[in-house]
Amino acid sequence: MSKKSYERPLIRKLETGMPGKFGLRNDLTPATHIDNIPVAELVENFGSPLFVISEQTIVQTFNKAKRAFTTRYPRVQFAWSYKTNYMDAVCRIFHREGSWAEVVSGFEYEKALRNGVDGKKIIFNGPEKSREDLTKAIRNDSLIHIDHLDELYELVELSGELGIKPRVAIRVNMDTGIYPQWDRFGFNLENGQAWDAINKIVHSGKMELTGLHCHIGTFILSAGAYGIAASKLALLAIDIRNKFNINLKYLDLGGGFASRNTLKGSYLPGPDINPGFEDYAEAISSSLHNSGFSTEELPLLILETGRALIDEAGYMISTVIGNKRLASGSRSTIIDAGVNLLFTSFWYDHKVMPAQPFSLYREETLICGPLCMNIDIIRNSVSLPMLKKGDRLVIFNTGAYNMTQWMQFITMRPAIVLISSEGTVNLIRRKEDNDTLANQEVVPAYLSK
Ligand SMILES: *Cc1c(COP(=O)(O)O)cnc(C)c1O
Repeated sequence: MSKKSYERPLIRKLETGMPGKFGLRNDLTPATHIDNIPVAELVENFGSPLFVISEQTIVQTFNKAKRAFTTRYPRVQFAWSYKTNYMDAVCRIFHREGSWAEVVSGFEYEKALRNGVDGKKIIFNGPEKSREDLTKAIRNDSLIHIDHLDELYELVELSGELGIKPRVAIRVNMDTGIYPQWDRFGFNLENGQAWDAINKIVHSGKMELTGLHCHIGTFILSAGAYGIAASKLALLAIDIRNKFNINLKYLDLGGGFASRNTLKGSYLPGPDINPGFEDYAEAISSSLHNSGFSTEELPLLILETGRALIDEAGYMISTVIGNKRLASGSRSTIIDAGVNLLFTSFWYDHKVMPAQPFSLYREETLICGPLCMNIDIIRNSVSLPMLKKGDRLVIFNTGAYNMTQWMQFITMRPAIVLISSEGTVNLIRRKEDNDTLANQEVVPAYLSK
């Protein structure tokens, strides 16, 4: 019989099921399974740490978003934001469910083609599009969203050379009441840059102006800001019709909807206070309906929402390495997943839950990763039962950005598995090993003796 680990005694008020001072009750259910698959089994087969993605959650979340918009506005198209999570398996789920692709680099553009996306259904955003990228996008009849004037001039030149009229939109940035304003991307509306670009596109005669795009920020907690953005884009589209007699095909409101995560410093948990798809959909659709479009003229509404569609579908399973008392006396638990893999723990208080049954005794705990860096903190202070070496801890809502912004630092990047809607477990990205890195390195001959 193994020796039980020591837990120091403490006096604790009984949980009565009532909300406490912070409106919360402690969640007492261990995360023993993800989509009915035992966490222990996942670790046994694929190692720890391990990213797990739930297809069922992706599909459910996507359907929630789709319903919120399509019940309020007649013409809606989603485009999957590749940089949010560009695992091919994940992209293919979104494409199967009807999403186009939204890409911000030549690499992502190529990935979308390889995932079988029709060039006409790829939206090409971002400030860096090489001449080769643009040529490919023009030949494939993709939707090119122009970011700056130098790109515009290059497109004029290229479309002349290729003898093809590319379909273009401009990215518009504007004051929606969200500060600091994201004015680095696209053309500013209030100072006239947007009109300057529009005039140049139309007068060049070389491009077909098909839409307007904006992406006002990320994790935007105000649905009203989208209402303002939609009104301003709609007004601009109507002015374009009045001036040039061009009916734009679409308005693209970008992404930036908040997921269910809790921002650091938030008084209440994210799921209680963050706007939901209905709130964003209501604000955007009301603005579009209230603008001057007739029913027949209503443009297609494109949405590039990323994190709100994938965060909840992602889990990180980690293993406890050890515990210690800090100089302050508080408990610290070290796990095998650090900020190199969980970039978003700089912004969020990710929900964490032990994967095995636990006792009721809890203590405020600092959760650190394995990196030799003081900033490697997954949670600064979270009320947790005693965890011992070898126990598993599940970190929730990690589907967005972590699998694209992760760093290979000190340790290797772990495997990613996808639990299908049918309940099968599929490896979708292999764990890195020394060979993965060695393959990229070259030791000069004079050092390789
Ligand atoms: C990153 C990005 C998105 C997705 O943003 P989320 O905040 O993840 O919803 C959409 N459109 C553009 C242009 C982006 O750069």
